[in-house]
Amino acid sequence: MHKVIVVGRGLFGSAATRHLAERSDGILCVGPDEPTNRLTHTGVFGSHYDEGRMTRVVDPSSEWAVTAKNSIDRYADLETRSGIKFFTPSGYLGIGEPGSDYNERCAAAGALVGVATEKLSAIEIRAKFPFLSIDDNADGLLEIGTAGHISPRAMVHAQTKLAEMAGAELVRDEATKICNSANGIEVELASGKILEADKVLVATGGFTSACGLSPVDLGLRVFGRTVVLVKIEGSLTHELSNMPTIIHCASGAYILPPIRYPDENTYLKLGIGTDSDRTFKRLEDLQAWFKGEGSEKNRREFTDFITNLIPSLKTCNDWHTNTCAVTQTLSGLPIIDYVDGRKIAVAVGGNGKGAKGADDWGKIAADLMSS
Ligand SMILES: Cc1cc2nc3c(=O)[nH]c(=O)nc-3n(C[C@H](O)[C@H](O)[C@H](O)COP(=O)(O)OP(=O)(O)OC[C@H]3O[C@@H](n4cnc5c(N)ncnc54)[C@H](O)[C@@H]3O)c2cc1C
Repeated sequence: MHKVIVVGRGLFGSAATRHLAERSDGILCVGPDEPTNRLTHTGVFGSHYDEGRMTRVVDPSSEWAVTAKNSIDRYADLETRSGIKFFTPSGYLGIGEPGSDYNERCAAAGALVGVATEKLSAIEIRAKFPFLSIDDNADGLLEIGTAGHISPRAMVHAQTKLAEMAGAELVRDEATKICNSANGIEVELASGKILEADKVLVATGGFTSACGLSPVDLGLRVFGRTVVLVKIEGSLTHELSNMPTIIHCASGAYILPPIRYPDENTYLKLGIGTDSDRTFKRLEDLQAWFKGEGSEKNRREFTDFITNLIPSLKTCNDWHTNTCAVTQTLSGLPIIDYVDGRKIAVAVGGNGKGAKGADDWGKIAADLMSS
């Protein structure tokens, strides 16, 4: 009998497991490794199978700023203790548009948690980042030091390693069923094994509803997202060497600077999520999305957008797409709460920006399970 079983070992689940294990014994996490071959994989997927996620304190909403700040403050400690580096402090630039208060709201949330930002005019943006083609109406908001990008894969590895060092047990399997038992909660695994705990925390991201793991309808919407990656080499490597992570307010695009991937190549990545993206309810449709190449329309539109913003990318001839899923909640914030008395809880709903503050969302879930 375990005290708490955490189901799901993505960004939220691995963080919650670590926080729980560092304060109590009897913690077990159920969650598979990333599949080695997406096409032949028959199980679930995660939204952290990548090398780049933007991280920054500033956000139009203070809840996201607070959790990001708390998490970013702990990155160095996690990296040191695990020996796994996941944070690159490349900085963040918000490119605003006339009439939009996005940058003002971000700056205000930053100030609220004591993080200084710098406002830039269009001329100053072009002087600092000469590879950007922006018109005179644009303005910029810069966050340096605390902002940049994390490797979500490496962060999950670091959290998992620290959780195990603190005594957590790890079962690399999938949960198929969670139900009440005479003494607590039973978690049935794909292997057929049954585990038992006083309490269960479900942190299975976009697969939560598709796998039927929450006893109540959480009102989640799971969007399929397409990202475009362009290989950066030759003189572009130098030209883009001080590139920050970027949000372009008018288009909603998020752009990651050149990052090295496991194939030893360096790619710049972008995506633009909208409410018109495909949504998924059924497990087999979600699995098929993760195995596919995404939206061809998105590929064309994102390629046009980024070659207009960074014209020197027109010289690149190696472009490809990848797929991922975003789990959106009705409130726009993660749901971290009990859903069945005080025995089964969930920590789900990254809303497309759950990576940066994942350690703090995991801590909030651990606090809930410890209460
Ligand atoms: C294209 C894209 C770009 C993004 N960019 C950013 C960004 O720049 N910055 C940012 O902060 N956030 C970003 N995000 C969001 C961020 O990646 C997510 O919010 C985050 O991954 C959510 O963490 P999670 O733990 O809820 O889900 P996941 O990371 O998906 O983890 C869920 C885990 O549950 C496991 N699982 C599923 N079903 C089961 C089961 N039945 N049994 C056991 N385990 C199971 C999976 O294997 C997975 O490991 C982006 C997301 C996408 C899709």
